[in-house]
Amino acid sequence: MSYLVDKDGYYGEFGGAYIPEILHKCVTDLQEQYLGIIESESFQKEYNQLLRDYVGRPSPLYYANRLSQKYGAKIYLKREDLNHTGAHKINNTVGQILVARHMGKTRIIAETGAGQHGVATATVCALMNMECVVYMGATDVKRQHVNVEKMKMLGATVVPVESGNMTLKDATNEAIRDWCCHPADTFYIIGSTVGPHPYPDMVARLQSVISKEIKEQIMEKEGRDYPDYLIACVGGGSNAGGTVYHYIDDERVKIVLAEAGGYGIDTGKTAATIALGKVGILHGAKSYVIQSEDGQIEEPYSISAGLDYPGIGPMHANMAAHKRATVLAVNDDEAIAAAYELTRLEGIIPALESAHALGALPKMKFNPEDVVVLTVSGRGDKDIETYLNYYKK
Ligand SMILES: *Cc1c(COP(=O)(O)O)cnc(C)c1O
Repeated sequence: MSYLVDKDGYYGEFGGAYIPEILHKCVTDLQEQYLGIIESESFQKEYNQLLRDYVGRPSPLYYANRLSQKYGAKIYLKREDLNHTGAHKINNTVGQILVARHMGKTRIIAETGAGQHGVATATVCALMNMECVVYMGATDVKRQHVNVEKMKMLGATVVPVESGNMTLKDATNEAIRDWCCHPADTFYIIGSTVGPHPYPDMVARLQSVISKEIKEQIMEKEGRDYPDYLIACVGGGSNAGGTVYHYIDDERVKIVLAEAGGYGIDTGKTAATIALGKVGILHGAKSYVIQSEDGQIEEPYSISAGLDYPGIGPMHANMAAHKRATVLAVNDDEAIAAAYELTRLEGIIPALESAHALGALPKMKFNPEDVVVLTVSGRGDKDIETYLNYYKK
């Protein structure tokens, strides 16, 4: 049995493609073509060249000495924070825009919450000279003004979405609506391992460069090509998916996923989808979803915009259901404390999302010889105000 996707687009009972009739052709075209494109020599050549010269890969695997002393294990940080545009998201957008071009598409749409995926998409659209429309909840447009300005400077059109809570879920609904209206010329670049098949698999493959590099880097540093633990935060699951991809069926490697507890999983103000979600369908895939008794999606909450999503990728739902991964809920205050700790111990200010992965460390028990790789998915520049304001309250 494998934890990777099966030929029908499922991970166990999760995944699939639950889409409106009007998108059927777009989605099946993509299902039929994505693997052939991604595995082609011309794609691989251009993708790898861009990852190296434009994104700045390989990202370093850094031995965090003082953090290791604190937690009593050998802790390495996979430094996705050092990528162009400040996070892992660019690995995916660089890949998907090349897929779009191979398929002859001329117009790109995307959804964004905090604006990180929007900026990463607008960036590659500028690079490839493609039209770019980004849907963003009106609440987020106000909260994330700098990213809105960046997207505009990059030449994208940012459309504020006024429905629902005016956040990520509503922006995604609107992007799907746009796609339904322009199925022929438009490619939808999804920002995480969510959405109908083949998106979760395509995004995981494009992010799998993270674990491909970990294999080589940990071999060089530890003389074996696998760690004992992999730790990553999960919103939709793309940085975690990339971190575990080449180890997913290797049971020597323990997988720990940190989801956003918000104020606490019993408070009603949380985004801990695996702890609280029930099986349902959201944005084209079957997975765990935070929903009411009668199936209405409930509004999630996390201090971290990138983890504030009521769903989770089907790959991760399946890993959790079969106990392949241990899932820990890390609350706002624990993530903030972990961010300050990394800053003071290692001189690295992490993104708030990544701080949730770091917040898993105090909840775990290690042996001194354990080799731990923790992915720092992004840098904290965008979160400085949140960090500074948190203790003022
Ligand atoms: C968007 C984002 C996340 C969450 O998304 P995943 O798809 O779960 O990785 C995590 N970290 C950073 C820095 C992000 O920008």
